Amino acid sequence: MKIIAIGRNYAEHAKELNNPVPTTPVIFMKPDTALLKDNKPFYHPEFSQDVHHEIELVLKVSKEGKHISEKFAADYFDEIGLGIDFTARDIQSRHKEKGLPWELAKGFDNSAPISNFLPKSQFTDLYDLNLKLDVNGETRQDGNTKDLLFSFEKLIAFVSQYITLKKGDLIFTGTPEGVAAVKPGDRLEGYLQGEKLLDFYVK
Ligand code: MG
Repeated sequence: MKIIAIGRNYAEHAKELNNPVPTTPVIFMKPDTALLKDNKPFYHPEFSQDVHHEIELVLKVSKEGKHISEKFAADYFDEIGLGIDFTARDIQSRHKEKGLPWELAKGFDNSAPISNFLPKSQFTDLYDLNLKLDVNGETRQDGNTKDLLFSFEKLIAFVSQYITLKKGDLIFTGTPEGVAAVKPGDRLEGYLQGEKLLDFYVK
């Protein structure tokens, strides 16, 4: 499986990092070794002094497809969950300055904690979903999918023009504003529509 991630898909987050609001989706990938499941602890890597949390809604691809039209894109995912797109912001900033790729900042081991997944049918409106991240009991990120710049269908249509989607692939759909550094000892709790799906420690 592969993890496809979308950058700058919420305008307020793009602005907080002084990035332009994109006119086409910004895409990057994480390897499968980035996955961290079952609320296992995240071990802070030594190569970064500035690992940021980014809570994101994650789509699980339900069948293979390429060149998927936006009209049929909703048929290609049937479960959703939460993920954290951990980002070594110091490394990313250095790479951005030089125009280099982001893999080392975004794709390192365990940089993609994910929750269990829920059938999307249990939600009445996928474009009115609250995603919230508390760190040590304080809310740091509190966003809503109504503020997405590119819809899930647009993302699937766009990505699948270039990359075949396969069953089990994950799509991280971007983070709302409020990203900040984590440190050992922090407890991260992620909520989707008020239901706690993520609860793990940074070590
Ligand atoms: Mg992200």
